[in-house]
Amino acid sequence: MYINKEQYRRIKETLEKNAATLVAVSKIKPAEAIQELYGMGHRDFGENYVQELVDKQARLPPDIRWHFIGHLQSNKVKYIAPFVHLIHGIDSLKLLEEVAKQGLKNGRAIGVLLQVHIADEESKFGFDEADLLSPPFWERAAALKSVEIRGLMGMASFSDDQELVRKEFRGLKDLFDKLKDQVRQDHFNILSMGMSADYKTAVSEGSNMVRIGSILFGQRP
Ligand SMILES: *Cc1c(COP(=O)(O)O)cnc(C)c1O
Repeated sequence: MYINKEQYRRIKETLEKNAATLVAVSKIKPAEAIQELYGMGHRDFGENYVQELVDKQARLPPDIRWHFIGHLQSNKVKYIAPFVHLIHGIDSLKLLEEVAKQGLKNGRAIGVLLQVHIADEESKFGFDEADLLSPPFWERAAALKSVEIRGLMGMASFSDDQELVRKEFRGLKDLFDKLKDQVRQDHFNILSMGMSADYKTAVSEGSNMVRIGSILFGQRP
C-alpha cells in the first residue's frame, strides 16, 4: 500500500469539477508505487530526475504518460526525447532548441511547457514575464517544428501565506491568457500550477494541470 486512496479520490473530485489533470509526482518513490496507482486507472506520472525516469519507463507499462517536471540540462534531453509526454520546465531558448533538435532526431514533436518565474524567491528557475511577451521569442520558437509549446508552468513561493501564493498564480493565469491571444494556437492550452500544499488555490485561479506528490505517495525523505 503506497497510495493514500482516500486522498486520491478527494483530489480527483476537486479536479474533475475544474476539468484539471492530475500529474502524480512519483520521484524517489519505487516503481511499485506507480504500479499501484496505475492499477487504479491513473496514467499521468511526473518525475524530476532523468536517470530515474529512464529506469522507470523501461520497467513500467508503455501507455504511461511521463511528465518531466524537474530542472532539465540540455545534455540530458536525448535520454528522454524518445518517449517523454510533456516537459514542464523549459526555462531557456537554448533548452527549447535542444528539445527541438532531439524531437527531429526521434521523428516526433515533443510537447513542452515554458516555466515562468513567479515566486518571490531567487532559487526558482524560469523565464520572466517580459521574455515571453517579446515577439522575437515567439518568432524563434515558431521556427522550431519538432517541439510543440503546450502552455506554461509555474511554482509559487514556498510559503504559508496563501494570499501571496494566490497572487502569484493569478499573475501566471493572466500571462497565460495574454499569450493565448498572442500565440493563437489551439494546442497552447495547458497551465500547470499547483502542488500538494497549494493545488486548491491553483485550481481556483485557473490551473488545469496540477503536480502532486507527497499527499498522494507520502512524504519524501
Ligand atoms: C516535487 C515536485 C512537485 C510535487 O511536490 P509535492 O509537494 O510533493 O506535491 C511538483 N512540482 C515540481 C516541479 C516538483 O519538483
